[in-house]
Amino acid sequence: MQAARLHEYTEEMSEGLSIDEVDRPEPTRSDHVVVEVEGAGWCQTDNHIIEGMWTPYVDQDLPMTLGHENAGTIVEVGDEVTTVEEGEQVICHPVMTCGKCRACRTGDDMYCENLEFPGLNTDGGFAEYLLTSERSVIPLDTVDPVEIAPHADAGITAYHAAKKAVDELYPGSYSVAIGIGGLGHIGVQALDAMSAAEIVAVDIKDEALDLAEECGADYTVNSTDEDVVEAVESITEGDGATQILDFVGADETTSLGPDIVAPGGDHHIVGYGGDIHQPAQDLVDAEMAYRGTLVGKYSELEELVALVEQGTMDLHTSEYSLDEINEVAEKLEHREIEGRAVIKP
Ligand SMILES: [Zn+2]
Ligand SMILES: [Zn+2]
Repeated sequence: MQAARLHEYTEEMSEGLSIDEVDRPEPTRSDHVVVEVEGAGWCQTDNHIIEGMWTPYVDQDLPMTLGHENAGTIVEVGDEVTTVEEGEQVICHPVMTCGKCRACRTGDDMYCENLEFPGLNTDGGFAEYLLTSERSVIPLDTVDPVEIAPHADAGITAYHAAKKAVDELYPGSYSVAIGIGGLGHIGVQALDAMSAAEIVAVDIKDEALDLAEECGADYTVNSTDEDVVEAVESITEGDGATQILDFVGADETTSLGPDIVAPGGDHHIVGYGGDIHQPAQDLVDAEMAYRGTLVGKYSELEELVALVEQGTMDLHTSEYSLDEINEVAEKLEHREIEGRAVIKP
C-alpha cells in the first residue's frame, strides 16, 4: 500500500514526506482493528512533527507514517473484537489505550500508561490502511468519514477545551476564542452549543472572523487593526473574560491572558509553538491559571460525533489526494488553508 512517511526531520515542508510502498498492516493482537482510511486530517501538529518539535516528548522511530485524524471502514478485526465488525464505518480516537491502567479506568484516555499514538509514535493514517484497536474506534451512523475525520484530533481537542471552559462559564459571562482556524471554528461552535456565555472571537483575518460569526461568535475583534485588550475591556464592560481559549499559542497570544482575564479565570492553551513569559504576580493578582489541552477523552469524541450527527457542528474542509500532501503542509505553514485539509489516501 502507499503511505506518506517521514524519513528525516526538516524545516522544508515542500519535501517533508515521501510516498513509499509499504506492507499493509495486519492485526497482531486480538483487539487490533485494521481500517481502510477514507479521510485523514492534516494538522499543524504534522508540521511540528516534521520539524522535529515532538522529539523531546515522544520516541519516534523513523521512517514513520504520519496522520492522526483518521476515519474510514473496518476491513479486518482481531480474534477477540466483538463491538465492531468488518464493513463498519468508524472515526478513530487518536490513541490506542490499554484499558487496564488507572487512567483508562477513570476515562482519561490521554494519560494511559501504555499509550500508542498512531501518526506520532507508530504508523498513522496518511496511508491506505491504519492499524488501531477496538477501544479506539467509534462507529458512524450517518456522517461521511471524509467529512468527520479532522474531528478525531482537531475536533476533540477543541471540544475538550470548550467543555472545560463551559464548566466555568455562566450566562452573562464572556469567553474569548483566539485564532479561528481549523480548531478555533470548532471551538466556537462547541462553546455556542454548550454555553449561554457571550463569545468574543479574535483573529488577524476578516474572513476568519466572518467564519466565527457563522459559528456563533457574538463579537469579533480583528487584532490587526484593533487593540485586543481595549476591545475586550469595552465588550465586557471592564469585567474581562472568564475563559480564554487560545487556539494559537504564540507569545503574542499567551501574553494576553493576564490583561483580558476576569478574576479567577483561565487561559486555555490549545495551539502551541510559543512560550509563556508572565510575571508570577500576574497569576497571583488575577488568581488566573494557564491550562493545557491534550486531545480529549474517548467519551468526548462520542459526544462530538453526536453533535455532528445532530447537525449542530459544521466542519469546513477541503480535500486533497495523498500525492498533494507536501503541498498541504506548505499551505498550512503559510496559513493558506481555510478550515481543515483532509487527505484521501
Ligand atoms: Zn492533530
Ligand atoms: Zn491504559
